[in-house]
This record gives sequence, C-alpha cells and structure tokens, in this order.
Amino acid sequence: MSGPGIAQDSGFSSLQMQGVEQITIEVDLDGAVDRLSKGVQFPTISNQDRDDFDTKAFDDYHAFLVEAYPNVHKVLKREILGDPRPYSLLYTWEGTDPDLPPALFYAHQDVVPVPEESRDQWNQEPFSGAVADGYIWGRGVLDDKNQIHGMLEAAEMRIAEGWQPKRTIYFVFGQDEEVGGPEGAKYVADVLEERGIERFAFVLDESAPLIPGVFPGIPDNTALIGIAQKGYLSLELAMHGIGGHSSQPPEESNIGILAKAITKLEAAQFPYRIHEAVRHQYRYMGPELDEAKQPMYAAVAFGKDGEMTDLEKEFIAEMAGNQVTRAMLHTTIAVSMFNAGIKDNVLPPSATAVVNFRPMPGDTPEVIIEHVRKAIDDDRITIRDISASTPATNVANPDSDAYRALEKTIRQLWGKDLIVAPFFVIGGSDSKHFQARDFAPDVFTITGIQLESMKEFAGFHGVNERILVDEYGKTIGFFYQLMDNLNDL
Ligand SMILES: [Zn+2]
Repeated sequence: MSGPGIAQDSGFSSLQMQGVEQITIEVDLDGAVDRLSKGVQFPTISNQDRDDFDTKAFDDYHAFLVEAYPNVHKVLKREILGDPRPYSLLYTWEGTDPDLPPALFYAHQDVVPVPEESRDQWNQEPFSGAVADGYIWGRGVLDDKNQIHGMLEAAEMRIAEGWQPKRTIYFVFGQDEEVGGPEGAKYVADVLEERGIERFAFVLDESAPLIPGVFPGIPDNTALIGIAQKGYLSLELAMHGIGGHSSQPPEESNIGILAKAITKLEAAQFPYRIHEAVRHQYRYMGPELDEAKQPMYAAVAFGKDGEMTDLEKEFIAEMAGNQVTRAMLHTTIAVSMFNAGIKDNVLPPSATAVVNFRPMPGDTPEVIIEHVRKAIDDDRITIRDISASTPATNVANPDSDAYRALEKTIRQLWGKDLIVAPFFVIGGSDSKHFQARDFAPDVFTITGIQLESMKEFAGFHGVNERILVDEYGKTIGFFYQLMDNLNDL
C-alpha cells in the first residue's frame, strides 16, 4: 500500500479483532487480595541516592513470595540476580517443548518513594496495603506489584491444575526500574543473552493500563499496547570559572553563562518526524476515530519515511500542540536539574545543569552531544554523559501472532467495547534493556489492569495509588489466559 489515496479507497478498514467471546475466570480473590496487600507493605523503594537502598525490604519481600506462592516455588527455578547488588528475580518455568522460542513476563519490584510532604494527602497509609472502599491502596499497588502478583497468582492456579506451558516461560522481576534498571533488568538481559537464547517469541512488560481517555483526544476506553520505546540519555552541562565576591561581579557570572546556554538549547528543538511505531498506531487507531480526520490518519499510517505529505504535516501540527503527543514526534529535551551557589554574597566558582533526553532511533549519544554543542556554541561549557544511556528500541510487529494473542486475551477479559491499538511509548520501562537487543525485538508493553478514569492514573507515582479489587481479579485472569494463549503461537 502506498499513499493516503489508496488507503481511503480501501476504506481504511478497522483492524479491531472481532468475534472474541468474553470469558470469566474464577479466582480466589480474597486470598489474592490479601497476598497483594501484604506485598505492598514491603517498602522496596528505589531512591535517587543509590546508597540509600533497603536490602531488608527486598530480602523480606522475596521470603514472603516463597511463602505466598508455594506451587510456583516448587515447580519453577528461581535465581536471584543483579550487578553489583543481586535483588532481581528470574524464574524459569520449563516448557514441554524445549525447541519453541520462550516467552518472558516482566514486572518490577521497586517503587518510587513517597515524599514526606505528600503523606497527609493519602487517604490510607502508603505502605499499609489497606483494603478499603473496594480498592487496594498503597505505593506500588498499581506500579507495578499488581502485575508481579497477578502473574504469580495465575501461575499458582495453572500449576494446581497440572498445567505446564508448551514454551518455556520466564518471569523477571527487576529491582531498580524506577532508576533505569542498570543493576537489575540490564544484568538479567545480559545473563539470558549469554545463555544463548536466540529469540523470545513474546515479551510482556508494563506500560499504560486500560483507561477511558488514556490517549489524548480519545475518550473511549482504550488498551494501548506499547511496541517501541524511546531511548534515554542524561547530559551534565557545567560552567567552571572563577568565583568571587558579589560586591565586584564580572560582566558574566557562571550562572549567567550556563543559563544562556540552556536557553539556546531549549530553542534548538530536534526536528519532528513520524516514527514507524506511530504509523502502526494510527493504522489501528485511525479507523476508530473521527471520520473527518481519517484521511489524515491514513496518510500517517501509510506514509513513507523521507517524504512528508501535507496531511502528515497537518498531523504533526496537531500532535505538536499537546506535550504528550508532541513527545512521540522527536527526541525531547528536558532540563531537569540546575545547581549553583551556596550563599547570597558569594559568586559560585561553577554552575551545573542536567538535561534529560528521550531519543528517537538514530539519535545516538554522539549525535545528541553534537546537537547540544552546536546549539549552545560556547566552548567554556563542558558536556558529560552521566547516564547509563540506552538507545531507542526495536519495533515489535503488531501484525504478528504474538500481538494477536495479546489482543485476544485483552478482549477475552475486558470485552469488545474498547479500542486496542499499538503505540509508541514516550517514556520507557525496564524491558527497553531487552527490546534494544536482537534477541527480543517483540516486546509488548501494557499494564494489564482496568482503571476507572484518568484521575486514578495520577496515583502512578503520585498520591492515593490504588486499584479496584474486582479489577485485580481480572488482572489475574488476564495472565492466566495469556499463558495458555501463548501455547498457540
Ligand atoms: Zn513501573
């Protein structure tokens, strides 16, 4: 197919899966809720200061999982990995057919801290794991412990029934996703690569939950499946000069010089382009949206890299008007830290800033550093890569049995009254350490839980993080059913 004209002639037809029967999976909800509630009570926090790391919280959480999920710990092999600190869990569930490429289910154990000043805004103590008003509350209950526990509950049920997967299934529960995963996910990916796994048939990790309005401008209930993730790079910009007394300031201060450089950098945005994952996204989403805009979405879906039609330009103009959708169009520049000075009458001898970039494919650290150098055009400023940078990932294929197995499972649990579409993840999670490598291009990311509204999504890293008890039952059913559906790949 080529060009929007042809797309329109072909009707820009819906790709939403039809004819899937919704099913109900019986789970021991009271027991499962109790186990998740207890899991939330372990403060497995990832602090920005990596020396501030509560090893006991992780050790105790691991011991609790052993006790709470006896079948899993009888049948699956468990390894505790990580470098230099081993707190990530790798479980191997041998399949009946060792020749089939394996599947991997990913989730992370760590949670973001609860800032002291936000504690009084919580309706329940953040690490109490309270079950109240139909919800399970607590830091990490949504991000991402409901996924760990959902997977383990499902495996526990399957094992009790005497079921064994055809393909080997790995569970990987990382320890430091919230700080980029350098000790956990990256190391586990290294280990699995060294073991000679050629290619995973399917990798699942967290991303957006099912929510009405999760994608800007689309009020419908939507299940977005991440198929590609942006990269990550943080640069420190520093101005080292001479300090002095504020009574006799030089014409330019270190702070002033650095501030000018930052202003120039923010004015030099990376150009917009349409990523392959965005084309896939609009191929699936477009036909479900406003009919008047379908020619534009078709132009995006069937457009070609290196060419830019008027309709694609229109799309870019529209998407650039919203900061969420704008981020999917280019490498973003976010000035996140600025440090200088200790006293009102002392000129600081240096000033530093940190700029975080989320790169598009091809924007390597070298390309970005060159861009920054040119933009600020000031040799006095030094530039240093301070991140464990990761490149933008491969793109998983939505026109694949793996994607279809996932969509089918979503519809089996949550029905037909929702849009299911692939999308380009503007953030990223631990599975980027897998998806950036050749052995795991087919990473699909979605958090398998239904939220009521975008208001609840604010609990993600915010206050009053909670999930509905009844929806947690469906999460368990989702993993239970997905394990079986993966047998058909
Ligand atoms: Zn998360």
